[in-house]
Amino acid sequence: MRNGNLFVISGPSGAGKGTLVARLLQEVPDAWLSVSATTRSPREGEVDGVNYYFVEKERFMQMAEAGELLEWAEYSGNCYGTPRASVTEHMGLGKQVILEIDVQGAFQVRDMIPEAHLVFIEPPSIEELERRLRGRGTEDEKTIQKRMDAAKTELARKEEYDYCLVNDDLELAVKALVSYVDEQANNTK
Ligand code: 5GP
Repeated sequence: MRNGNLFVISGPSGAGKGTLVARLLQEVPDAWLSVSATTRSPREGEVDGVNYYFVEKERFMQMAEAGELLEWAEYSGNCYGTPRASVTEHMGLGKQVILEIDVQGAFQVRDMIPEAHLVFIEPPSIEELERRLRGRGTEDEKTIQKRMDAAKTELARKEEYDYCLVNDDLELAVKALVSYVDEQANNTK
């Protein structure tokens, strides 16, 4: 059994983080994905407790004030946060814990847990990012504009990450991400 590690995966919405993380979970048997709490409404097909814990703002703020969240941030008008207890538990069980969270959350995690590995997933270009966001067809125009603005803010901080990966060719990106996680996990004493 390997020791537990914490991996934070960020990148603009539409960079393909979700697909990459799903493949990572298939290919790294001891990887475990944390389920965040959010105040945003579920998209079609999203399941409470699987994709997110969908909660009201009041409940979210109670969790934050009670210290139940390892980090939390407001992104594009909604709140998102990582439940602390399940992350601690899975790290103790020797899991490679994966957080798929935004840039603000990533740096909060680094402040608290300096040994966390921060990975940034970059789209091939800003134009491609917009095309992917529109192609998804799940967001209205105002939301797309907000997410494009957020993307530019996020891209500006990619240099601060431990590892930056361009998601151009999916298979190559999966390979690179799996190698990075395995390398870091195998090097942990
Ligand atoms: P979406 O609404 O597309 O599911 O997520 C929007 C953004 O929130 C994404 O960048 C996603 O990674 C981020 N996010 C999801 N969960 C968390 C969380 O627990 N904390 C933070 N800080 N960001 C999160």
